[in-house]
Amino acid sequence: MPASVEVEIEGRRLSLSNLAKVLYPDAGFTKADVIDYYRRIAPALLAHLRGRVPTLVRAPDGAAGPVFFEKRCPGHRPKWVKTALVGRYEQHEGFEGCLVDTLPALVWVANLAALELHTYQARVDDLRRPTALVIDLDPGEPATIVDCARVAIDLRDTLDALGLAAVVKTSGSKGLHLSVPLNRPGVTDDATKHFALALGQLLESRDPKRVTTVMAREHRRGRVFVDWSQNDRAKTTVAPYSLRIRPRPLVSTPVSWTEVEAVYDSGDGDALSFEAPAVLERVAARGDLYERNLTLQQDLPSL
Ligand code: ATP
Ligand code: MN
Repeated sequence: MPASVEVEIEGRRLSLSNLAKVLYPDAGFTKADVIDYYRRIAPALLAHLRGRVPTLVRAPDGAAGPVFFEKRCPGHRPKWVKTALVGRYEQHEGFEGCLVDTLPALVWVANLAALELHTYQARVDDLRRPTALVIDLDPGEPATIVDCARVAIDLRDTLDALGLAAVVKTSGSKGLHLSVPLNRPGVTDDATKHFALALGQLLESRDPKRVTTVMAREHRRGRVFVDWSQNDRAKTTVAPYSLRIRPRPLVSTPVSWTEVEAVYDSGDGDALSFEAPAVLERVAARGDLYERNLTLQQDLPSL
């Protein structure tokens, strides 16, 4: 394979480099495979990136090499890659992030070996308004994703009793991410943080041996940490359909509640581990299981 290949995508010229380089050694998954995955998942993924500036997590040599978090859009970007000023509040002066909302822009960041894309809860047109409430469920060893599944189901049922629907995805790493679509004016990150903490504390009070809302390591051992603080406006969460930087090309994958229940019943956490080819098949067969995160409008009840 030549060192670099010129392509034209939607009228934009791109030079793709190091395509034969293996970035996921345990699967022989190359940079060409990464770009191909992002090109094919784009119809589902771009909707979740639209109007947001993802943090790029670049790993030019894959999981074995150095990893760079890049919030600022690289200065060497083509001029058709648009940017937006974000992170400007209080004493922070902000920065220009890349808007990755078109196929050429997505392929351009994939070619930078930005294997992971992480997004804020707010869009750039209204930086103070989260579009969803997110809860990150982290298993503290020896707890596993199966314990996260149980806590996720409890959270879903608690939300359901309050008249709120939630969607769920794997992190593509150890745990699960649950999201409550809001998509309503007037929501603040203070409100989502407060609500998420209250939910977490409710579960913790019911089952303190298995659930904690306290970040300190010693509280997390053997428990599921309900990370409510992910709702802070300065924080990001890995985007649905993003690859992760691991030895295999695992993906943060939207799943159905039926699948989460099945994993809780069977105890087989591996059933919630999805690699890029499987994710493409899932989306082809079942569509985007995270679509409601963008379309469903819900109001947080006052507690
Ligand atoms: P896991 O299932 O292993 O917890 P995760 O993606 O949920 O995977 P966390 O460590 O729980 O990882 O972090 C939650 C989110 O916070 C990440 O998805 C990421 O967007 C963000 N994050 C975590 N660590 C960093 C970091 N060092 N710099 C920037 N963002 C980070
Ligand atoms: Mn997590």
